[in-house]
Amino acid sequence: MSGTDEAGFARDTALIRSGRASQFTQGIVNPPVYHASTCVFHTLEEFDARLKNPDSGLYYGRRGSPTIWALEDAMTAMEPGAAGTKLFPSGVAALAAAFLTVCKSGDHILIADTVYEPTRALAGGILKRMGVKAEFYDPLIGADIETFIRENTSAIFLESPGSLTFEVQDVPAICDVARARNITTIIDNTWATPLLFPALERGADISVQSLTKFIIGHSDALLGSVTANPALWPRLKQTALQLGQTAGPDDIFLALRGIRTLSLRMKRHGDTALKIAAALAGHRAVARVLCPGLPADPGHDLWLRDFSGCSSLFAIELSGGGRQNLAAMVDHLDLFGMGFSFGGFESLILPITPAAVRTATPWTGTAPVLRIHCGLEDADDLIADLMAGLDRFAQAAAL
Ligand SMILES: *Cc1c(COP(=O)(O)O)cnc(C)c1O
Repeated sequence: MSGTDEAGFARDTALIRSGRASQFTQGIVNPPVYHASTCVFHTLEEFDARLKNPDSGLYYGRRGSPTIWALEDAMTAMEPGAAGTKLFPSGVAALAAAFLTVCKSGDHILIADTVYEPTRALAGGILKRMGVKAEFYDPLIGADIETFIRENTSAIFLESPGSLTFEVQDVPAICDVARARNITTIIDNTWATPLLFPALERGADISVQSLTKFIIGHSDALLGSVTANPALWPRLKQTALQLGQTAGPDDIFLALRGIRTLSLRMKRHGDTALKIAAALAGHRAVARVLCPGLPADPGHDLWLRDFSGCSSLFAIELSGGGRQNLAAMVDHLDLFGMGFSFGGFESLILPITPAAVRTATPWTGTAPVLRIHCGLEDADDLIADLMAGLDRFAQAAAL
């Protein structure tokens, strides 16, 4: 985890200091949680001055409060090369705002085939109705993305590694092509966070995160962020104001709290994930481990080049059997709850069906696939739980 903040402090020090400017905290260690809609102006002169320059201080709750600004500042500080951040009530709301910042009717946009399913739904729903044509591309295409570009292509959307199947994209190569053609790149950076993948430094113009995952880190709130480079920041800010979506101060407080331990948690999540992924690769019920942190993974070299660590989340493709055999495994795990999301302290497991959410690069596997989020429990306890589950699966499926 490299990089320094504006004051020259190392990344981990910067995370502790971020979002805590004295105008937000008034000297208290943590930024206070302001519950605010209206703020009151004392004189006409003060009111007129604020009307003239709405960003010079408190205006109205939707335009921000010290609690909101504290997290926006912290998220901007976390992403080298960023000019600003806007917050949204969920990661999906943040994704929608990022597209609406860039796209207009008549545009063509390119989306990696392995994106988070709600991103695909957004493209086929609201964006399509707006007259934006989305085309899905092979996430491994690299610089050949050039061949997909049309005169009206306005955005290229990336997510690396891909949701569910964890293909690593050549983000710098794709972003270089986009920049040369004046096309905006948007990346969903939820898996890595800027700690493991500084998205704007790698070439993206706009970085989206579901703060619900690692930033909040405790499975107790939903929140999203969009962070932009200097060229896109004014448009992002305008779009966010017009959409009028706001994030609640109590949820923002949880994100600010999460940031203080983010680096420690990511390191532990990653170490545990690598250990578990390597262990599962040796089980006879596992055909393939989809985890770029493993040397055998096809994305490993790009991952080594561009990422500074492994996240908590990977998948395993089983070596046979069917969905009817899965209950033998997942119904009897002690430590892995079955549920959506990731990034929390507790481990999770999720049966997934990649074939249902791809169009450009069909998934041909027929055996069950499981996504695993490695929490903060003891790694050996987690391995024992999964190994026993895989033994039960192997028996049920007669592998
Ligand atoms: C969870 C997730 C989102 C959406 O976040 P919510 O806060 O649940 O709306 C977006 N992108 C990725 C990659 C995610 O995993």
